[in-house]
Amino acid sequence: MKTPILLSSLQIVPRRLFPTTLILLFISIYMHGQVTENVEKPMVLLAKAMIDVESGTTIRNPAIYIRNGKIETIGDGLKIPDGLEIIDVSNKYIIPGLVDAHTHLCHEYRRDLDIVPGSNTIAETVLRNEGDRALLGAKNAREMLMAGFTTVRDLGNSGMGAAISLRNAINKGWAVGPRMFASTRALSPIGGQFVTMAYEAQSAIIPKEYVAINGIEDTRKAVRQAIYDGADCIKVIVNNNSLVLSQEELNMIVGEANRAGLKVAAHATHGDDPSMLAVKSGVNSIEHGYTISKEVLDVMANQGTYLVPTDRIGVRRYQQRIQRALQAGVKIAFGSDMYYHHNELTRGQLAVRTYQSYKEAGMTNLQILQSATMHPGNLVSGKEKIGLIQSGYFADIIALDENPLENIKALENVVFVMKEGQIVKNDTD
Ligand SMILES: [Zn+2]
Repeated sequence: MKTPILLSSLQIVPRRLFPTTLILLFISIYMHGQVTENVEKPMVLLAKAMIDVESGTTIRNPAIYIRNGKIETIGDGLKIPDGLEIIDVSNKYIIPGLVDAHTHLCHEYRRDLDIVPGSNTIAETVLRNEGDRALLGAKNAREMLMAGFTTVRDLGNSGMGAAISLRNAINKGWAVGPRMFASTRALSPIGGQFVTMAYEAQSAIIPKEYVAINGIEDTRKAVRQAIYDGADCIKVIVNNNSLVLSQEELNMIVGEANRAGLKVAAHATHGDDPSMLAVKSGVNSIEHGYTISKEVLDVMANQGTYLVPTDRIGVRRYQQRIQRALQAGVKIAFGSDMYYHHNELTRGQLAVRTYQSYKEAGMTNLQILQSATMHPGNLVSGKEKIGLIQSGYFADIIALDENPLENIKALENVVFVMKEGQIVKNDTD
């Protein structure tokens, strides 16, 4: 996501740059959907307590001063100037809005419709057009926001452009959802993540979900195409069933992406080699890393590469990998990787349940809170600050009935959601 441009910025544009600069600014505002809806009157949010997820301290009776969608200052609740709008959740605990660093909002997997394992994803690509995918994404985006997720990084499996359309729709106010950082199609070895399909079907189906890269020039072109298509970040699948990208291809991806100010998320599974190649190329996060070794984790800790675990409850090897990562000092950024259909639970309710897998792996409640907010916020953000309740950060704030430092399951019942200074859910009483 590009830096929001407010009309007030125009006041500091030097006169000699008019009118070209003005025109460019307006084009930029139009292209990125960053209109001026978040220019608001100042307000103050009062709460019972605020969890400072960075330090782990609980601050009683905080007053959060908010202007233009950002947090200005945090006071003690005693001196509130006249004329401020007061938002009173003074019987609730507040924390930063949740951040999910690995979503697939425009994708829905129905196990019950599988013919062979994995075929349902192919069927979705065949049966649903871009509009269907974007509208499915709008439903999931709303559900994620209502569960407390104010920011997501959406990593492909969204058709050729559905996630970009969804992000733009949210930015324009056409749809309700979290702030989105979208990758467009994932770059991958030939075949992407699809099981081997008939030759005649390959060229029709695979490019709807993946950009196959095969050599350095292919790689350069794929990254530039993603940026042109509106990507906020690049998703690369380092390895599929039988193919692994080369170090040179990965270096090219990171170099081209970074030059344009984009970060890179690397899907890496099946042993250590794909992860090490990706880490050495300078990607910002390793997704999944189910079997990642101490050797790779040590390099990640040195370089500040995040691990986005995408775990499920009850899997011993996932838990052991979390432990290895913590011991190595690798920062863990929450990623739900949630794309399953459920008859009773929303996408957001399914995503928040994933925190229990971290609990099961031995993470403390504070570590889980950090992985749910400040770590992924830092990982996915560009110039803007996301993931803490501190001066200068987006006013993304959620409220809970209980103190999550004492009971992490409190995250499964978010009763109030503010995104960028706007209240989008308020079930407090
Ligand atoms: Zn995924």
